[in-house]
Amino acid sequence: MQHILALPNGENIPYLLERRARRTIGMKITTDGLVVHAPLRIRQVDLEALLRSKARWISTKLKARQAATLPAFSWRDGAELQLLGQPLILRILPSTRNSQPKLEGNTLQIATSNIHDQVMIARKVIHWLQKEAMLDFARRLHILAAKLGEPTPALFLSNAKTRWGSCNSRRKVRLNWRLIQAQPALINYVIAHELAHLREMNHSARFWAVVAKIHPDYPAAEQGLKACSQALYRLG
Ligand SMILES: [Zn+2]
Repeated sequence: MQHILALPNGENIPYLLERRARRTIGMKITTDGLVVHAPLRIRQVDLEALLRSKARWISTKLKARQAATLPAFSWRDGAELQLLGQPLILRILPSTRNSQPKLEGNTLQIATSNIHDQVMIARKVIHWLQKEAMLDFARRLHILAAKLGEPTPALFLSNAKTRWGSCNSRRKVRLNWRLIQAQPALINYVIAHELAHLREMNHSARFWAVVAKIHPDYPAAEQGLKACSQALYRLG
C-alpha cells in the first residue's frame, strides 16, 4: 500500500507499507523509494509516529540517492549527457535564432543566441529528453505488458527525486524521465517491476516470480540501477 509520511519540516514522503508477520519495523530505500516493513497489528498512527522519529535517517538516505556527492551538471558546449546508456555530446551553437535541440548522430545540437544561458539550455534539453522518454517508455511498456499478458497500463512521466517508478491500483504507471539516460536493460527492469505490481502490490516471493517472468536478470538490473542512480539524478 502506498502512503504519505508528513514530516515535521513540511516534507511529504511517499512510502510503500508492507505488513508482515514480524515484531520489528524495517525500512529500506529501493527502486520504489522508501519501503517500510511493519508488524501486522501495529496501528497506522503508532507506525507513523515511529517513522517520524526516524525522519533524519529517512531524509539522509533518500538524499544519498540523489546527486549529493556529484557536482551539478554543467550545461556547456561539449558536455556529455547519456541517452539509453550511450554518450550524447551536447553541442551549443551560437546563432541569431534559438532552436529546439536536434539529434545528430551522437550529438545533441542546440542553436542559441545566448550560449551562456544555462537555465534556458537545461530547460530545452530536459524537455527534449522527456519527450524521448515518453516515446521510448511507451513502446517498452506496451511490449513488456504483452509479454505478461496484461493490457498496456496508462503511462505518466514522473519527476520524482528519489524513486524510479510507481504503479497504483488504478493501473497508472509512473516512470521517472531520468531513466531515459540509462541502459535499456535497466529501463526494462523498472518497467517489469511496475508491471509486476499490477499482479502483486507487495514485494513477496510471488511478486519477484512475476518480475522474473518479464525480466529474468532482475538482480543484476537492480544492482546496475543502484550503481548509476547518482549519475542519473544529476539532471533536473
Ligand atoms: Zn516495487
